[in-house]
Amino acid sequence: MTISVNKVITLHYTLTDDAGTVIDQSTDGSFVYLHGASNIIPGLENALTGKAAGDELQVSVAPEEAYGVRDDSRVEQVPREMFPEDTDIEPGMQFHAQGPEGQMVMITVVEASNDTVTVDGNHPLAGVPLNFDVKIIDIRDASAEELEHGHAHGPEGHQH
Ligand code: ZN
Repeated sequence: MTISVNKVITLHYTLTDDAGTVIDQSTDGSFVYLHGASNIIPGLENALTGKAAGDELQVSVAPEEAYGVRDDSRVEQVPREMFPEDTDIEPGMQFHAQGPEGQMVMITVVEASNDTVTVDGNHPLAGVPLNFDVKIIDIRDASAEELEHGHAHGPEGHQH
């Protein structure tokens, strides 16, 4: 069996940036996802198509195929009163906010003063080329319920 749309894939991965710093990895055990349902970034999903259990691969994904390129217009100053009064706002803090099309976006505080806060609405990994080290552990057919939900179920998948 090889990886194709509507299969549930179990894999191990390590994600590093171009400097070799580990950004993320599958911890205790593995990562499970539904292939073809946009559960993972497009560049990685495409590279995995057609692979088999036991295959190991290294995938370099450009920002365009991952979390997008940085958009400097998404760095902006907002009034301090948009943040909770009783919280110290410090660089690096992250908040959920509503994006231009009404979707939820994560914003990161760049700078804060008494009156204004500079926030960055880019994804923290926007503009970052990603390098995945992947080992495919298991491939199985998705259940009807998983297909309906658009994600994998099970021990390391989605719990309801
Ligand atoms: Zn579900």
